[in-house]
Amino acid sequence: MKEMKPGKILINNEWCEAQSGKRFSVINPATEQILTEVAEGDAADIDRAVQAARNAFEQGPWKTMSARERGRILNRVAMLLDKHKEDFAELETLNNGKPISETRNADLPLSIETFEYYAGLADKIHGDTIPVNGNFFNYTLREPAGVVGQIIPWNFPLLMAAWKLGPALATGCTVVLKPAEQTPLTALKLGELLMEAGLPPGVVNIVPGFGPTAGAALATHPEVDKVAFTGSTEVGKTVMKLAGDHLKRVSLELGGKAPNIVFADSDIDAAVNGAMRGIFFNQGEVCCAGSRLFLEERIHDEFLSKLKTRAEKMIVGNPLDPKTQMGAQVSEDQFRKILGYVEKGKSEGAKVVTGGIPAQPQGYFIKPTILEGVNNRMKVAQEEIFGPVVCAIPFKNQEDLSRQANDTVYGLSAGIWTRDIGKAHRLAKEIKAGTIWVNCYNCFDAASPFGGFKQSGFGRELGKYALELYTQVKSVWVSLD
Ligand code: NAP
Ligand code: MG
Repeated sequence: MKEMKPGKILINNEWCEAQSGKRFSVINPATEQILTEVAEGDAADIDRAVQAARNAFEQGPWKTMSARERGRILNRVAMLLDKHKEDFAELETLNNGKPISETRNADLPLSIETFEYYAGLADKIHGDTIPVNGNFFNYTLREPAGVVGQIIPWNFPLLMAAWKLGPALATGCTVVLKPAEQTPLTALKLGELLMEAGLPPGVVNIVPGFGPTAGAALATHPEVDKVAFTGSTEVGKTVMKLAGDHLKRVSLELGGKAPNIVFADSDIDAAVNGAMRGIFFNQGEVCCAGSRLFLEERIHDEFLSKLKTRAEKMIVGNPLDPKTQMGAQVSEDQFRKILGYVEKGKSEGAKVVTGGIPAQPQGYFIKPTILEGVNNRMKVAQEEIFGPVVCAIPFKNQEDLSRQANDTVYGLSAGIWTRDIGKAHRLAKEIKAGTIWVNCYNCFDAASPFGGFKQSGFGRELGKYALELYTQVKSVWVSLD
């Protein structure tokens, strides 16, 4: 493998080392080998990055540029990403451990599409005129929120950067982005493309580093107007408290424990496909994974036997091999946590149908895992495992199902499998979650909103809904007397 250059911090369109001079290692979870080193930004670097973003917001050409020109720059980002998609797909696979078939067919196209979508939206952001009482002309301006701090996780490193940057840049905000410590490489590579596309200095600053230092400094910095966070519910609560000191605006995309519900009247083979996609896509490191598989009692055994056959046929291994269907978990921590949950499940009385053990002697690979005999109150059904472990839970009837499906602190997504269209729509209304998939699972489009109910967070990313996160409304009154 060719040697990788150490990663640096991007501030004001210049690459620099951390002020402390520190670096940290980035590993390939499939081989446990070090890929490269990256500058370890902390509070001092965040401060410089935020100052750069503030200057770019108040004084730079970004502010005076037309919205259409901002759109053109975003379009160029999309085109450049498309041109280099193979390099990005490979780098993402090396750093995250996910299969190249997924980085090629999901992460890259979805990231490109996100920049394209917001490129098109940039010049369609505007206020209203409002027919108020009296002799006044009243109108609203939709203005950018200001300097935005964005903190992202390791499971879709490039895609999460695109979801965050696309709408923020379309609205005219400036950004300091902190990628996850495990996976900073594609975000940094994206930094090169942003400059090539013509983004003025200071508009996007990228500071790799650790959560409690760089992340916390970003959430508390007085010059940051808004914080957008994706990650665990636990850290989301910390970030919200930190941001509360200055009453910053906050949006949070957090964890999930989605019910994927299969009725006896569904197309069973399609539902088996959906259950596979729901839990084994991205090694189960997906916030909206269908991790609670609710099976109507009548089809429980048949369904699990089909699912078991399919799970055991999955090709788990070298993420760079195009035939591989499931790669490595992102880190040793994550690997151990997932295997720990399998043990917890067993001690609570669940039975391992298949998997539950490492899949390779080296690297953080885990076999596709099915647990049965789970009830919804067990820890494995309530806590986010964030791995390729599905908990099968039988249900009697719709009433029994609805109660259990909503019996969780999370509310990010749900899947419903049935041929009864009325039942599907009724349940879609009843389930407290931000996304409902009927006879499909894990479908995404830059135009369709994504976000959580309950402790899965608040605010909606993607679509025109994300513009709410990055704009504020000003009401202007003009006397006509
Ligand atoms: P995490 O530990 O919550 O980290 C997320 C980000 O927050 C990382 O950049 C992390 O930096 C940073 N961070 C950690 N502590 C911080 C602090 N005290 N102040 C400010 N920032 C801090 O989550 P993760 O382990 O990376 O990702 C897995 C979790 O994310 C899962 O629970 C999953 O459900 C959730 N997730 C949700 C969505 C969604 O859209 N709802 C999408 C993806 C993932 P470090 O990397 O240095 O720790
Ligand atoms: Mg973390």
